[in-house]
Amino acid sequence: MSTSMVPTTSKQGVPEIFHVPHVETGFRTPHQPWSYYLYSFFQKHNECLNCWTHLLGMCLTLLRASQFAERHDLIEDPHMWPLTAGLIAMAIMYFCSTINHCFSSKSELVFYTTAMIDYAGIGIFGVGGVVLHYHYCHDDALVTSWQRAAAVASSVAMGILMCLSCSVTMFIYEPPYPFARTLWQISSALALYLLNSVPIVLRLLQYGSGDIWHSSLDHHTQQMIWSAAAAFFFGADIPERFLPGRFDFVGHSHQIFHICVIMMAEKQLEGITHELERLGPKFSTMALPTFWNSIGAVILGIVFNGLLVISCHFYVRKMFYVRNMVDKKTKIQ
Ligand SMILES: [Zn+2]
Repeated sequence: MSTSMVPTTSKQGVPEIFHVPHVETGFRTPHQPWSYYLYSFFQKHNECLNCWTHLLGMCLTLLRASQFAERHDLIEDPHMWPLTAGLIAMAIMYFCSTINHCFSSKSELVFYTTAMIDYAGIGIFGVGGVVLHYHYCHDDALVTSWQRAAAVASSVAMGILMCLSCSVTMFIYEPPYPFARTLWQISSALALYLLNSVPIVLRLLQYGSGDIWHSSLDHHTQQMIWSAAAAFFFGADIPERFLPGRFDFVGHSHQIFHICVIMMAEKQLEGITHELERLGPKFSTMALPTFWNSIGAVILGIVFNGLLVISCHFYVRKMFYVRNMVDKKTKIQ
């Protein structure tokens, strides 16, 4: 039988680390060639829709990028650098997530490493969001250029800390993971999201009470609602907790979480489209974004989170090596 045709197995057929709460079937067999996991894109398994949803999200982002490129110069015009940075960060987040869901079943070491790649992508996405919101969604009277620079620098630090906290809690806690780990994941992502939201919340507070509304705020508000829904489905394990095994292939909370993330990102870019129409006539009077306040910040996030993932990968590798040695010694004795 070809490696691409290895059938899926039940929860009992894979080590505990691959278990997903309330999922009983559809697990891919570990320790197969890389090609098996790549071909599994076209196989029915419990991660299949997670792979496809964020691949779709990446395609939608690239489509948006091509539409923005028709109207704006994303490379030569410094006013567009924050948009370029946000689009790069978004595409990277989707790519990292797809890599994680596609290859995570290969081995224990790959499971840890690809999960950390996913966290790195989310941290980079957070940096891109701060760059977008602090350049295009603010009100000049409320967010100064100094505050903008501080927010972008803080977002890089928070993106790295988020990746670090999510990665380290994988080693601190043993599977089945306690809710404390989910709390660490959500709280570190929430801190970055709150920083993201400050310019929009200030706009809502300012305009909401004054009968002055801009169409971009419709999309920003919807983006916040989708973000709240994403956080809920990420942590709640609903609906599968009520009917374990029933949503192994379709309808699992992580699939709903992915769809909420796509909607959140789409609404974010829709809001930015409206903001660019609002700011277009004002660009000539506005300060130019710097490289390090836009694309450079995302590059810093990629470099530091990349180094973090590589370091944690070698740490986990050593951890497994030591564990195997201890197991072998115990068996000999
Ligand atoms: Zn995911």
